[in-house]
Amino acid sequence: MKTLIIYAHPNDKSYNASILETAKENLSSKHELKVLDLYKERFDPVLRFDTTHRRRDLAHDVAMKDYRDLIIWADQLIFIFPIWWSGMPAILKGFIERVFAASFAYENTPRGLDGKLTGKAWIITTHNTPKIVLPLVQDYSKVLKFQVLKPCGIKSVKVTQISPVEYMGDHKRKEVLKKIAKIARRL
Ligand code: FAD
Repeated sequence: MKTLIIYAHPNDKSYNASILETAKENLSSKHELKVLDLYKERFDPVLRFDTTHRRRDLAHDVAMKDYRDLIIWADQLIFIFPIWWSGMPAILKGFIERVFAASFAYENTPRGLDGKLTGKAWIITTHNTPKIVLPLVQDYSKVLKFQVLKPCGIKSVKVTQISPVEYMGDHKRKEVLKKIAKIARRL
């Protein structure tokens, strides 16, 4: 299986970095693995439209070609990122805006989006919202799962939300990493 990890955290000593290492170490040898670290790539998340950057040409943007090729190459995408202001970090949002373009990731139809991508995904995200408060806020993974991946054709999406990550204590955080390892080994 061709697996692409899309990782968005600026600090390589963070808990998200530990999640990344755990996933990498525990994916079995049947995976051909590539990692896209958006901060290390210094990915430019700003989508520009003007007379030289036309919206209709976005799917052919030469600067995004390598990223489009990676998405097509992968049978499975694994997203690892923290929740910031109820959503994904801006660098990941910008990646989706620039790479998941019409005519590449989907076609617009009168009935909505017709997805052109295939494969499956696993979203792993961390946040601080206590479990008791979660029903009162929006599901943080909903936008990526239901409003990006599924309309683009990636229908099988597993979600792992880790919370409240800064307050659960070291022991619990290490237990969670073991759970991530177990899931990764079974993929
Ligand atoms: P870190 O801060 O790197 O680590 C968290 C803890 O884990 C630290 O105590 C660290 O020492 C420890 N740790 C690191 N590695 C390990 C390891 N291997 N084993 C055990 N422990 C380890 N939260 C919300 O719920 N909703 C929001 O809307 C929201 N908005 C935010 C906006 C901003 C701009 C920011 C900065 C934070 C926001 N948060 C929000 C909180 C955010 O989601 C968390 O700070 C983030 O998920 C923590 O992940 P991290 O990788 O940065 O953790």
